[in-house]
Order: sequence, then C-alpha cells, then structure tokens
Amino acid sequence: MSGALPSAASLYRRVWRVIPPGEWAAFSDDIEAILALKRERNAVILAHNYQTPEIFHCVADIVGDSLALARKAMTVEAQVIVLAGVHFMAETAKLLNPNKTVLIPDLGAGCSLAESITAQDVRLMRQRYPGVPIVTYVNTSAEVKAESDICCTSGNAKAIIESLGVPRVIMLPDEYLAHNIAAQTDVEIIAWQGHCEVHERFTPADIRELRENHPGVTVLAHPECPPDVVAEADFSGSTAAMSDYVETQKPPRVVLMTECSMSDNVALAHPDVEFIRPCNLCPHMKRITLANIRSALEENRHIVTIDPCVAERARWAVERMLFV
Ligand code: SF4
Repeated sequence: MSGALPSAASLYRRVWRVIPPGEWAAFSDDIEAILALKRERNAVILAHNYQTPEIFHCVADIVGDSLALARKAMTVEAQVIVLAGVHFMAETAKLLNPNKTVLIPDLGAGCSLAESITAQDVRLMRQRYPGVPIVTYVNTSAEVKAESDICCTSGNAKAIIESLGVPRVIMLPDEYLAHNIAAQTDVEIIAWQGHCEVHERFTPADIRELRENHPGVTVLAHPECPPDVVAEADFSGSTAAMSDYVETQKPPRVVLMTECSMSDNVALAHPDVEFIRPCNLCPHMKRITLANIRSALEENRHIVTIDPCVAERARWAVERMLFV
C-alpha cells in the first residue's frame, strides 16, 4: 500500500445517508487510526455483510457473505487478517491461511448455529447413518467441520448437495436451511435442529403485515428463515443473492428478512430503492466495533488458533466446497 490514506471526512461521503453527523463524529478518530494501523501492520479487514456501515464501507478491504469471504480469504497477501464477523468466519480464514495471523476483535462473537452442535454430535450422526455423506454449513466450529465430508454455505448448499451424486445426505446444523433446500432438490436431506436466533424470529404474519402496510413491497428472505416464511416471500437467497436481486431487478420498494445492517449496506448502493427495515439484530455480529478492530490491530488480539490435527481435516471440508 502506498499513497495518502483517505481522510475520515472523505469516507463519510460513502455513508452519510445512513449515519447521522453526530454519530459519525464518534467514529472518525477510530477510522483514521485503523487505516494507519492496517498499513503499518500489512493487514486487511474482511467484513461480513452484517457488519455496520462504518465498518463495511469505511475500513473493510474485502466484504461479502460467508462464501465470498472464504473464497477471497484464499487470495489475501497481507500478513495479518482481521475478521469483522463472527468466530467461525475467523476460523475459516485461518484454515485457508494457516501461515498468517488471523485476529477476531471480540472472542464473544459467536453464533447460535455454531453453538448448536459439537464434533461428538457429528460422530454420533455418522454412526447412526453409516455411509451417508455429511454436509456441514460453514456456520460451525472447526471441530465440527473436521468431522464432515464437505462444507456448504446458504449460497451454494443445493449445488454442493447435488454434486455428491447420492440419494440421501445429512445436512448440519441449520434445520430451516435444510428444509428450504430439501424443497428444491430430489436428494433426501436428514436435518439437525439448530437455528439462527436472528432468522428464526421472522414469521409469515410479519410478511402479511408488511404487505398490508407497504403495498407493492418485494419481500426477500434468507434461507435460514423458517420454511413458512420463505414460502410467503417473493425470493429467497443468501445475502449475496439478495444483494444481486436488488441490483438486477431494482424493485421500487423492498424488505430484506435478515440481519439489520444488511439493509443499510445494500441501501447505500441503491439510493432509488426504498428499503423497509423490520430487521433483527445479530448480537454476535454487533460485538464487532471500530473500537475493538482498532484494539485488535494495536494489541495483536485475539489471535485465532486451531489444533493442527483438527485444522487439516476441517480445511479439507472447506476446500472441497470451494472447488465444486
Ligand atoms: S445472524 Fe444467525 S447465523 Fe449469522 S452469526 Fe448471527 S446467529 Fe449466527
């Protein structure tokens, strides 16, 4: 990296429509410090679509959904990666970059799906269904990935399952994602009972109320939502697919049934689209702030480590997904 760093004032032009000036005043010092630290430490910041706009649009180098972050993590040249997202994402970045330092700004940034299943649970499923391949959502720990045959994301789950060429698979741990994918394929899917605490709260009644209060609204639902919510939506897809839908279809009025910051981040790119925002916050994603990203870079914390025996097997499951 060379040349002058952008000033916080110039970056504000990217986000002024969703961040009021009073709020921005509290961010600018951290933003300038983070930009300088990234250069000093040869670091990059990977940010998930659910990160707040001041992180997503002002300090992140690579943004996207879990699949995009995993793919792009493989191409990172910097020595240090800061993962602005949750712990399983930082582990995935570490799996794909074993020789780099991967930092997560807050160790408490977990995930209800990742916490719903252990490696021992996966081993028991394998015993119960011998010979049935285990497809594991990336929203899991490295230990769980290590027990799996292949990983998937909400964006590629159907393609991954069908690529295996078998009549039946086990898909862990998101029950709703498994049921939503089962509705699109002839492959029989055995599910686990994990749920995303953000998406499970949406209901079909929410959609009906939205349509009544906002006539003509297009409803996009993430496939971690319950199947009856997905059934009432106009479109269901990963965060990347929802973003592409807005980009290509340009609905005049839209609601994204997903985490709150996603709407803010997509809305900034589409000033002509009216975004209705009955979203739910992910408390884990919101543990990541400019202040703790700055501390992560200043104090080199929290370093993500994975037992090498676990890492080798987990990396295989992630890389196998990336090459489908
Ligand atoms: S939004 Fe749901 S799946 Fe994503 S990190 Fe939060 S709890 Fe996990």
